[in-house]
Amino acid sequence: LSTRLDGFTDSVIRRMTRICIKYGGINLSQGFPDFDPPKEITDRLKKVANEGPHQYSVTWGAQNFRESLAKKQEKYMGIHINPDENIVVTCGSTEAMMTAMMSVCNPGDKVIVFSPFYENYTADTILSGAEPIYVQLKPPYFNFDKDELRRAFTQRPKALILCNPSNPTGKVFSREELEYISSLAIEFDTFVITDEVYEHIVFPPYKHTYIASLDGMAERTISCSSLSKTYSITGWRLGYVIADKKIIEQCKKVHDFLTVGAAAPLQEAAVAGLDFDDTYYEDLTKLYDRKRKLFLGGLDEIGLKYFEPQGAYYVMVDISQFGFDNDYDFAVWLIKNIGVAGVPGSSFFREDVNSYIRFHFAKKDETLKEALKRLQKLK
Ligand code: GLN
Repeated sequence: LSTRLDGFTDSVIRRMTRICIKYGGINLSQGFPDFDPPKEITDRLKKVANEGPHQYSVTWGAQNFRESLAKKQEKYMGIHINPDENIVVTCGSTEAMMTAMMSVCNPGDKVIVFSPFYENYTADTILSGAEPIYVQLKPPYFNFDKDELRRAFTQRPKALILCNPSNPTGKVFSREELEYISSLAIEFDTFVITDEVYEHIVFPPYKHTYIASLDGMAERTISCSSLSKTYSITGWRLGYVIADKKIIEQCKKVHDFLTVGAAAPLQEAAVAGLDFDDTYYEDLTKLYDRKRKLFLGGLDEIGLKYFEPQGAYYVMVDISQFGFDNDYDFAVWLIKNIGVAGVPGSSFFREDVNSYIRFHFAKKDETLKEALKRLQKLK
């Protein structure tokens, strides 16, 4: 069996979902909504059931999907996007990132990963033959130390992975931080591979800056994102890579042999979402801001401490007062005894940290209220 897999376990996020199902808890672990996608998208899906397409789309994504996506992303990202040259449609951003990594990394290359980080990045790095260099994001604001980041760049990494807005911390990188990262990427000739799946979930006054739009970055940024969180269709597995033509030619090759293509009927139905106007995205932000306030207010009432998220739909809650040596044991205890699932914080940290649990608040208000009611028992 392959020894490459020894460097990581199965995803603890996804494992917590399975444990939660087993014990019938409220699942605030793996981040996905329990409410429906927009009706325009599901109506279009019904139409697709009768009218098709039911066969493969073009490998890089259906033409109309890429055209609608290019139009929308060009507007939000502020860069020029040619639907034929700059896009590959993938099976979720999970495939997008793996494709990006395999398109640029050679065996032995180094890749900078900020810690805490979304679990997949270590696996992506190792599976693409590279080796992670971790740079700490320090609580409470999860800022990086400029000198530490520069030192990591002096190891001549092939790429840096940037999750912005950030999972699990909810940090939104400031323009100034992104400019600093960009200056190093340019100086050391490094790619930046983004994970921007929460691009439309940023709470005022914070703003999302696409690093691809900064000076000198369009040609070295591989922007990965997905429709999962923006349109509440995590099960559809629709994501994409946006990058310079030369990089996309590589990504097309990897994607072609990994998956042949994302589901054609779902691409067709999702075009209804890509064609929405700005108000949809403004309303999405408002919806999640309301859920954030509801959930954080509930945590305040219980007396739980947390880091306030600026974007995305996660919150890292401090569990050190409960006297568990191990946050994984706490998470399993919480499902069994309180009936609420979260993700042990240690699955996001390179360092040995056992004092957090990550909850997500992408749930109906009634689900969040019921979860809070159960969490009251922690008082
Ligand atoms: N991004 C989600 C989370 O962190 C999970 C996504 C997934 O499992 N593919 O919970």
